[in-house]
Amino acid sequence: MRCPFCGNVDTQVKDSRPAEDHVAIRRRRFCPACGGRFTTYERVQLRDLVVVKSNGRREDFDRDKLERSIRIALQKRPVEPERVDQMISGIVRRLESLGDTDIPSKTIGEIVMESLARIDTVAYVRFASVYKNFQAVEDFEDFVSELRPRSPVDPGE
Ligand SMILES: [Zn+2]
Repeated sequence: MRCPFCGNVDTQVKDSRPAEDHVAIRRRRFCPACGGRFTTYERVQLRDLVVVKSNGRREDFDRDKLERSIRIALQKRPVEPERVDQMISGIVRRLESLGDTDIPSKTIGEIVMESLARIDTVAYVRFASVYKNFQAVEDFEDFVSELRPRSPVDPGE
């Protein structure tokens, strides 16, 4: 990491510790050339997360896709939209803080089921019953979209 004071690229890490509830690593750095001290933060980049499916196929994590699967499971359930947003953000934060950018689709499915179980039993059962057969969030979405004729999607977004 280049020193922001003198431009020297050979700086040293003096101290590393978890920050922001373990979502980031805070590093204190020292520049031996000029004696300058500075701090850097290391975070998982969401766009770099890769979903590893059970057949070994890999694809970039897509938050929108995850959100659609969850909203399908929650269709017509009396759950406030804010709670759903909160839940999805929580799931994404958990994925980001796993510490590995390669995430098995199974892990995502389990986290989703756990989260759904806490907010709506019916949605949980819907998701879990289909998920068990397909072992992939994406497949669940495909499956459900085949079942129902094009539902009127909110055009507002
Ligand atoms: Zn320096």
